[in-house]
Amino acid sequence: MSSRGLEGKSALITGASRGIGRAIALRLAEEGCQVAVNYVAEQGRDNAAEAEAVAEQIRALGCQAICAEVDVTDQEAVEDMVEYVIARLGKLDILVNNAGITRDRTLKKLAKQDWDRVIEVNLTGAFHCARAVIEHMRERRYGRIISISSVVALMGNIGQTNYGASKAGLIGFTRSLAREVARRGITVNCIAPGFIDTEMTQAIPRDIREQIVATIPLARMGLPEEVANAAAFLASDAASYITGQVLSVNGGLHM
Ligand code: NAP
Repeated sequence: MSSRGLEGKSALITGASRGIGRAIALRLAEEGCQVAVNYVAEQGRDNAAEAEAVAEQIRALGCQAICAEVDVTDQEAVEDMVEYVIARLGKLDILVNNAGITRDRTLKKLAKQDWDRVIEVNLTGAFHCARAVIEHMRERRYGRIISISSVVALMGNIGQTNYGASKAGLIGFTRSLAREVARRGITVNCIAPGFIDTEMTQAIPRDIREQIVATIPLARMGLPEEVANAAAFLASDAASYITGQVLSVNGGLHM
């Protein structure tokens, strides 16, 4: 049962039309949080409809929800989005940097553009969002910034030098920012999920997925909702003395 511990709070979640971001959006709304659902237009899918469906589910939980179509790599657009979200929701208490992509190749075949794009979306995108919200949070002396890193930042993975660097970068970013803004009542943390059952991991060939599951002590992939529970905790007052940390949600894959 939900305690509605985020009643009166408002959150912006990037990449929230599906997967882990969607689960976080719904979980925060279960706690009474108003939510801005960010998504990016992508060829071949109706992301606007998916984002609107998430917003409808949030409204059904009795919370305000808005959608914002913005590519997190576009700094000006991110700034405009944050202004719009604050104007519509009245304030912004929680930022979840969830938007992320993979472009897997072993280093000898990794093209510069695939290195750049992964760093731009996963790491620079989080910088753009945090940069856009930080003054608002500092003025209000309250904030929660949660970035979705990865177990790959902690243990590495073949074919993911770009992804691993971006996700390890998020951890360094988090710890430095946590120190900068702690006195302003803002906490900054990472979640490092293991292998979670979303479209991102459904793209992995079945035999490789089976090999991965065989290495996970809890012997299964995680659910997006299990990552969302960790995000709801870090966003809540129950986590008020936790900052600069990396919370692993990985079934024991890395200890
Ligand atoms: P997913 O299903 O592929 O979803 C990725 C989300 O990121 C989508 O909502 C996508 O938006 C959004 N996105 C991508 N590029 C964007 C951009 N330039 N601007 C704004 N949004 C953008 O992946 P997921 O598995 O839910 O992953 C969510 C996060 O968790 C990612 O950061 C990922 O690296 C991390 N993670 C995942 C796993 C896992 O096993 N699944 C493990 C560790 C960490 P659209 O839907 O609009 O395209």
